[in-house]
Amino acid sequence: MLGTGGTIAGRAGTAADNLGYQSAQLGVDELLQGQPALEDLGIESEQLAQIDSKDMDHATWLRLLQAVDRHLARPELRGIVVTHGTDTLEETAWLLQRVLAPRKPVVLTAAMRPATSLQADGPQNLADALLVAATPGAAGVLAVLAGNVHGAADVRKLHTWRLDAFGSGDAGPLGQVQHGRLRQHRAWPQGEPLGLQRLPADVTRWPWVAIVSSHGGADARSVDALVDAGVQGLVVAGTGNGTVHQALAAALARAQARGVAVRVVSRCAGGPVVAAPQSPWPVYENLGPAQARVELMLERMAG
Ligand code: ASP
Repeated sequence: MLGTGGTIAGRAGTAADNLGYQSAQLGVDELLQGQPALEDLGIESEQLAQIDSKDMDHATWLRLLQAVDRHLARPELRGIVVTHGTDTLEETAWLLQRVLAPRKPVVLTAAMRPATSLQADGPQNLADALLVAATPGAAGVLAVLAGNVHGAADVRKLHTWRLDAFGSGDAGPLGQVQHGRLRQHRAWPQGEPLGLQRLPADVTRWPWVAIVSSHGGADARSVDALVDAGVQGLVVAGTGNGTVHQALAAALARAQARGVAVRVVSRCAGGPVVAAPQSPWPVYENLGPAQARVELMLERMAG
């Protein structure tokens, strides 16, 4: 189990106060205390980081990738659990899946309430995550929260405070953990790994990719300023079915002419971008803007 921080490791100001709390306070070993039946699993733990995931950065991502890659190579190891904050969990999940596409389960889990709150959700989420990580045949990067098992491509944080804050879009969760048993509805995430060796070990060489949003009153100056500042890739969070305001379109064409890679997704919380042949830029049909930023960064590193 690898600990990175988040609310699952958070400490409340008072037990009843879930907002006035500090994220990333308890160590990974403290989170494991009180988990049932751990002796059978032979769990090892490592505190990889201790951050609020709103502050996730490329250096921490690289360390996590390296640690997961190193552990996956151990034949005796069945699976990996990563404790994480909820805020950027979907980005970390997609990064791990695209780079490592593991044949063993790598299970991210998190919590909406700090560990010391009256009814913390973290311990149950962690127990469910450990169960999934120990399930024979499980594979790919998964997120286990509120009894649901989400695949790395589908998982999105959809709500600011509900315990069941994550969804998997129209297809629904890949599985569920019910009363200590996994019910699997769909196939585990698959894919070809990009390979860790394709990523520069010096994260200052990772490309700068930014997200711009298309919206009423969009202003080309935001795109022009990013290009002038040296941005290497732009993900446009487009309206509806990935459409882009005409005021931005001209600036994006200028950006592309200057070598900036442009990709389009929808800013809608649900639904893919359906067949967009009219789009002058490649579309990531199923990714949310933050995952698309990771995808474009990887594309630039691999290319
Ligand atoms: N800000 C926290 C984090 O992402 C929120 C959480 O974990 O729920 O680390």
